[in-house]
Amino acid sequence: MQMETNFAYIDENYKRIVDAMEEAKAKYRKPTDEITLMAVTKTVAPEAVNHAISCGIHTLGENRVQEYLSKKDFYAKDAKVHFIGHLQTNKVKYIIEDMELIHSVDSIKLASEIDRHAARVNKVQDILIEVNVGGEESKSGIAPDQLEELLWQAGQLSHVHVRGLMTIPPVEGDEKFLYKMQQLYLDISSKKMDNIDMEILSMGMSGDFATAIRYGSTLVRIGTALFGARNYQK
Ligand SMILES: *Cc1c(COP(=O)(O)O)cnc(C)c1O
Repeated sequence: MQMETNFAYIDENYKRIVDAMEEAKAKYRKPTDEITLMAVTKTVAPEAVNHAISCGIHTLGENRVQEYLSKKDFYAKDAKVHFIGHLQTNKVKYIIEDMELIHSVDSIKLASEIDRHAARVNKVQDILIEVNVGGEESKSGIAPDQLEELLWQAGQLSHVHVRGLMTIPPVEGDEKFLYKMQQLYLDISSKKMDNIDMEILSMGMSGDFATAIRYGSTLVRIGTALFGARNYQK
C-alpha cells in the first residue's frame, strides 16, 4: 500500500487518536487542560504530513536534520515544527531559525550551542530538557538526579528559555516511569527557578499516549498510530 496516496487511512487514524485523547482527558484531567497532538514525521512523505496538517494537526515533530531539510520546502506553511531527535551540536545552525521548540536538550554543551546560535539569529529559543527517566545506558536524556543542576545552568542562558520536560520512557505503557516523570515535573514546577517554566510535559507515543495523558502529559508525539509502520528503506 502506498502511504502517499492513502489519505483515508490517515483520516481514520486521526479520528481514532483524537477520540482516545478526549476519552483519557475526560477521565483523568481538567476540561480546561490543553493537550497538543504532534505528528512525528520521520520517514513519512511530505504529502502524507500535509494531509495530517489538513486534518487539524498543527505541530510536526522532526528527528533528523538532513531529512527535515530535504522535506521542509514541501510542508504546508501553517504547521509549527519541533525538533525531537538527538541533536548534534554542529547541526544546530541548520535548524535554529525554524524550530518553535527543541525537545531533546540533555546537556549544557548543547544548550549553550543553541543559545549561541539563537543569539546570532536574534531569537530566544524555547527548549525542553530531555530526561532519561529509566536510567538506560544507551538512551539520551539527562539522569533525573542531574536534572536540577542542568536546569540551573540552562536558566543562566539569555537566548534559550526552558519550557518544560520531555521523555522517552523505557517500555511504552509502563506506568511506573510515567508516574516518576510526572513527579519530577511537579517537583521542578514547585521550585520556581529563574528563567525556567514548567508548561510543557512532552510524554506519550503511539503505544502509551492515553496513559501518558493520565500522568499529566501536555503534548503527545504520535508517528505509527497516525501514519502506519515506518519504512526505513525508502
Ligand atoms: C519516532 C518517535 C516518536 C513516535 O513514535 P511512535 O511510536 O511511532 O508513535 C515519538 N517521539 C520520538 C522522540 C520519536 O523519535
